[in-house]
Amino acid sequence: MFGTGLLKGLGITLKHFTDTFADDRRKEPARYEGSIQIDARRRVIDQPITQEGLLTIQYPEERRLLPERFRYIPMLIWDTEVGEDRCTACGICAKVCPPQCIWIVRDMDDNGKPVTRPSEFYIDVAVCMSCSFCTEFCPFDAIKMNHDYELAVYDRYPQLVYDKAELTVPLEYYAALWPSQFAEEQQRRAQEKEEDRRREEEKKQAAEAKAAKRSQEAPEAPKNQPAARKTDDNRETAAGDTAEAEAKRVRLEEMKRKAAEKAAQRKKESGS
Ligand code: SF4
Ligand code: SF4
Repeated sequence: MFGTGLLKGLGITLKHFTDTFADDRRKEPARYEGSIQIDARRRVIDQPITQEGLLTIQYPEERRLLPERFRYIPMLIWDTEVGEDRCTACGICAKVCPPQCIWIVRDMDDNGKPVTRPSEFYIDVAVCMSCSFCTEFCPFDAIKMNHDYELAVYDRYPQLVYDKAELTVPLEYYAALWPSQFAEEQQRRAQEKEEDRRREEEKKQAAEAKAAKRSQEAPEAPKNQPAARKTDDNRETAAGDTAEAEAKRVRLEEMKRKAAEKAAQRKKESGS
């Protein structure tokens, strides 16, 4: 019938309208259970997916709990476990940032030698497009996406160019914002640390074993071998000398015998 679809649509809208009041009535005050009180005026409400009707949040006093993977602008992690910035000023994030809104200045030591930490770090958050490339390419888990989206200011410059102090947050803040990602990273970092420790241990053991083997073999070889060779040579020389003397003696005996025979022959001839 003509107009049936229209009536059906209006019916759904009307149901949403009445459900809004009925659901609110049913859940009041339970609607605020599990909400997070930010301060005296503001709270975060974790609105369940079973919410019926139209949702009304009394913003800015109330705001929705954001999903973990929500991202707005980046933040730099201050590692409270080791007491330093995780950032090493490698510059990878600045290179991969599509709108090129990151600037980094590497710090120097007292001798003017560059060190692995930034002295300055800026992000133009008016240009940042929340793509999260910087966080994905950072090899040190030093830059992560913040959930803070209330950045309105009167002047673009310099207020929307965030410096290192404005960008830096403690590790615990990141852990609270991204609990499951943080847990995965901690596990991976612990595994990598264990792997590095094991490799170091193996290297050390191999070096020790090599050194021990060398110290066992090296000092004896040069001394013993010539000595052994010398003994063998001596033995061979002595044996050679004895054989030669014996041969000489035999030859002499032979010559004496022949000389005696010749003398006896000569005497016999002269006598006859
Ligand atoms: S945030 Fe990460 S990628 Fe960027 S400079 Fe620091 S360590 Fe390198
Ligand atoms: S989120 Fe994207 S646009 Fe923003 S600073 Fe990171 S890489 Fe650049």
